[in-house]
Amino acid sequence: MWFKDLFGIKKRAGLPFFLYSTLTKSKEEFTQPRYVRSVRMYNCGPTVYDTSHIGNLRSYVFADLVRRTLEYNGFSVKQVINITDFGHLSSDADSGQDKMSAALKREGLELTLENMRMLADRYIEEFYRDLKQLNIGTERILFPRASDHIAGEIAMIRTLEEKSYTYTGADGVYFDTSRFSEYGKLGDINISGLQEGARVAAAEDKRRPTDFLLWKKDERIGWDSPWGKGFPGWHIECSAMVNATLGKQIDIHTGGIDLMPTHHNNEIAQSESATGKRPFSRFWLHHEFLNIQDEKISKSVGNMINLPTLVEKGYHPISLRYLFLGAHYRSPLNFTWEALDAAQTSYLKLRRLVDAEKNEGRPPSEWQRKIHERFNDDLDTAGALGAMWEMIKGKKLSGATIKAGILDADQVFGLGLGKPDELADSLCQKTFGVPVELSELPERVQTLVEAREAARKEKKWEQADSLRKDLQKMNYAIEDTSEGPRLFRKE
Ligand code: AMP
Ligand code: ZN
Repeated sequence: MWFKDLFGIKKRAGLPFFLYSTLTKSKEEFTQPRYVRSVRMYNCGPTVYDTSHIGNLRSYVFADLVRRTLEYNGFSVKQVINITDFGHLSSDADSGQDKMSAALKREGLELTLENMRMLADRYIEEFYRDLKQLNIGTERILFPRASDHIAGEIAMIRTLEEKSYTYTGADGVYFDTSRFSEYGKLGDINISGLQEGARVAAAEDKRRPTDFLLWKKDERIGWDSPWGKGFPGWHIECSAMVNATLGKQIDIHTGGIDLMPTHHNNEIAQSESATGKRPFSRFWLHHEFLNIQDEKISKSVGNMINLPTLVEKGYHPISLRYLFLGAHYRSPLNFTWEALDAAQTSYLKLRRLVDAEKNEGRPPSEWQRKIHERFNDDLDTAGALGAMWEMIKGKKLSGATIKAGILDADQVFGLGLGKPDELADSLCQKTFGVPVELSELPERVQTLVEAREAARKEKKWEQADSLRKDLQKMNYAIEDTSEGPRLFRKE
């Protein structure tokens, strides 16, 4: 049932929607966006100096799940994922090299803006391809590029300068965090602890370890500015891009947990100081890492796996999405090939179930509620998956009703069930076998199938299961649909 609230927002009745915000360290109800029309959501995006690994992709699947849950709850969403194609230094302490410049060196390319753009283009294409393969609708997302927003970035630094939030050193312009009394409020950063470790901190002219570069001077590459040639810092890029695409204040900001202490606290300090408006973002959502053997997947550890590698190994990209759904986003997730195998089998089973049934049912309301209560409880996708499988295995609903229930839940899961997909079809055949007509099979197979049907009708589940196993030994798999059993022969 739907109703409209005071603002005309269509809502599902009786289901409050909670999200855990790092800012308040609590689950808060999302009731309405700041601006009536739509929820404004910004997701920190990729630094395009290399191919994204599957850990990075957890970030965008998570953002897509937030979007889908909002939409299911009746909100429309304006979503932005930025592209960092400049200014992301290899260390958060403002030392090290710009990651894009390092990538040019790696590729043997001359340090020019044109080469930088060309290299970024390559990884942006790959990024869009990865998103599409994970069923993330790129056409509905805005992807601003840091190097296209230089004017806005310079303008924001000037504003901060005019308001005396900056100082200039030999290597660039710094944000003076002592001027922002709430610095570190996200995640309660221990500032005094940082001050004690100050001497370990990197950049030369920095007055305190929490200060950070807004503009990095560089004679070799970059853009002209009031502070000389150079380029903007990674943090100001995000603040300026939020401002340019979504406005001064937004509803939701997301990113990996590693971005929370520095990058996101810096974004808050810059944006709230420049605009004078708080809070910069109402909700701050952070997802945990994807690990391998309890170690974060990252380029520096050298344990990277990319989406194309999974496909080469015979996996469907959506199996990775299914794997992500099985863990809460605020829990670290260990990647193993066995876990991916299991995710793929479950995903393909769902496809089979949906494809075998007609579109004649309506979602069963009690289960629908159970499943969406899980989604609305801070995106408990694992709980929602559990509830959905319970609904499927309950043996109480018709096949068509179950299909409708699965498709309803898939509006949030985003597995793209029911959509034509050749790769999924061929993987289904490999995993479950080729469909065969019962009448064309040897008599003893037909007899076993009939005996199993009879046992099922009499609710003799154990006997039915044992007959299913006999069929499996003969390389036949059986699936029950509303129109009777379907048989598959395994090669
Ligand atoms: P980057 O391209 O390095 O700027 O990172 C893009 C996004 O991926 C950020 O939100 C990071 O927090 C996130 N990220 C990086 N490594 C992992 C990982 N192993 N698991 C989950 N997210 C990650
Ligand atoms: Zn960012």
